[in-house]
Amino acid sequence: MTERQILVAANWKMNGTLEAIRPLVDAIIRGVQGISNEVAICPPSVYISELTTLLNGSEIRLGAQNVSHLEKGAFTGEISISMLSDFACQYVIVGHSERRALYAETDVLVAEKFKAVQSGGMTSILCVGELLEERESNDTEKVIARQIDAVIEKAGIEAFKNAVIAYEPVWAIGTGKTATPEQAQEVHEFIRLRLARHDNQTADNVRILYGGSVKADNAEQLFKMADIDGGLIGGASLVAEDFLTICKAMR
Ligand code: PEP
Repeated sequence: MTERQILVAANWKMNGTLEAIRPLVDAIIRGVQGISNEVAICPPSVYISELTTLLNGSEIRLGAQNVSHLEKGAFTGEISISMLSDFACQYVIVGHSERRALYAETDVLVAEKFKAVQSGGMTSILCVGELLEERESNDTEKVIARQIDAVIEKAGIEAFKNAVIAYEPVWAIGTGKTATPEQAQEVHEFIRLRLARHDNQTADNVRILYGGSVKADNAEQLFKMADIDGGLIGGASLVAEDFLTICKAMR
């Protein structure tokens, strides 16, 4: 079995000011020195330039929270892959449930964004996850399969050689309600098997993060599960001490 390096990625969402993020980044840089897990920060896009400077010389990777699927043109307010390429961006979150729910991003659009990230030589963090009512009606696997299959159909299984998946049950995001390690493991295993239908090696290698109220006191139990390869962290990534504890959680 492949040894997959744990990735802990911060999703700051629409939080922070220059005044707040400078000491936060400084504390994270100092705190992660020498750890074996990979760490990434996805700030609001307006701070990507600042983070490129602040993270220079550190091991911490930089990511964006969103990108347009289009290359350029009259799309007010949008940001392209080539713009992100001007900075040290390595990761781009696509298909976050907030974007699916609040900005009407469909499976097809998410797949197009995934493909754009791939073409730009960056790595997607593809978010998938079910709503509470979908879990309660036993539709979790159906929803996850639909979200994953849409991307395979558009980008091909090869694209997952350089991608990360984040399983984020929508009912657990920002609610303080975490999936149990067993609940999360069950879906992570399902995702890996879904990819394995197309290519075993890719399925075995791809990192699948868990996201949804990961905190300092539950990260380790989650990361210990066989198919959980780290976390996508919202609220807890805004507090240096909490985030650092998560970054240091081991298998
Ligand atoms: C997220 O938004 O990706 C997330 C996991 O948020 P939180 O950790 O706050 O639940």
